Amino acid sequence: MPQTKSLTQFIIEQQRRQHGASGTFTLLLNDIAAACKKISHIVNQGDLVGVLGNADSENIQGEVQKKLDIISHEIMVSALDANGHVAGMASEEEDRIITATHQDAGGQYLAVFDPLDGSSNIDLNLTVGSIFSILRYPSHEKPNETDFLKPGSEQVCAGFVLYGPSTIMVLTTGHGVNGFTLDQEVGEFYLTHPNMTIAEDASEFAINMSNQQFWEPPVQRYVEECVQGQTGPRGKYFNMRWIASLVAEVYRILMRGGVFMYPFDSKNPNMAGRLRLLYEANPMAFIVEQAGGLCSTGRQRILDIPPQDVHQRVPLILGAKNEVERIIRYHHEQQES
Ligand code: MN
Ligand code: MN
Repeated sequence: MPQTKSLTQFIIEQQRRQHGASGTFTLLLNDIAAACKKISHIVNQGDLVGVLGNADSENIQGEVQKKLDIISHEIMVSALDANGHVAGMASEEEDRIITATHQDAGGQYLAVFDPLDGSSNIDLNLTVGSIFSILRYPSHEKPNETDFLKPGSEQVCAGFVLYGPSTIMVLTTGHGVNGFTLDQEVGEFYLTHPNMTIAEDASEFAINMSNQQFWEPPVQRYVEECVQGQTGPRGKYFNMRWIASLVAEVYRILMRGGVFMYPFDSKNPNMAGRLRLLYEANPMAFIVEQAGGLCSTGRQRILDIPPQDVHQRVPLILGAKNEVERIIRYHHEQQES
């Protein structure tokens, strides 16, 4: 293996360059990395250790929980709680926020996470992942739910870990996006994808076509123009991908460009979209914008949304700058007409 930086070395170096940064953040990130290594190991073992399939429960979203949703949640919570670097946590798999056991440890951060994203893919041996977002919490009081309701622009760090053929962590602390591959034997993440960027133009889109009848006109128009190909208004052919796993979709866009949409649809109008603002849309928006892309509901920049609820859902359109700008423009044009 070529000589390369470990995740820990990389974070320490980044911290040194930031004025007044404490070592706590490095330790917190180590806790997250440790949890993700454990999840990676268990995902990899699969049926050998009996972790596939459904649990007999539903989460707060009313979705059937997989055994691995619960196991991953417990691994994340215990790893982050053990060392006292966070004052509180919020997880997709738990209705209420979780306050740290060792409140006196003075954790200066809040962690929000989707412990296992794309878990409907797990029984198919397809890629799943973990998504996390870190907020600053400069207080010694026990945090309450409103302390978590910060717009995405206030995130200090966001990342996701992909459990695919390789286990890869993608991370931003607001200074670009970097990818680290887990060396399973050594047990360390190493920098393998420095300065990941998203090309401004694209000819690949990802959307759940089975919801087409429920989309709004701007999204109908965008997709219709794409599928018209070379003789249509776009003058070129587009490709479509749909993995139904946000981590895998965003990783693909970071690697080879494109646009991903889970737009507003009228199938279930009281769900403003499908994906969750705090632990799916916000961390992905921070990463995508740091890589030169854009992230929007179609009408509002994701990172500007003031959250109302920890489990709030939003429409999500992300990826190549020029494509997302076009989709936003179609939304504006519809409003004006
Ligand atoms: Mn998810
Ligand atoms: Mn999940």
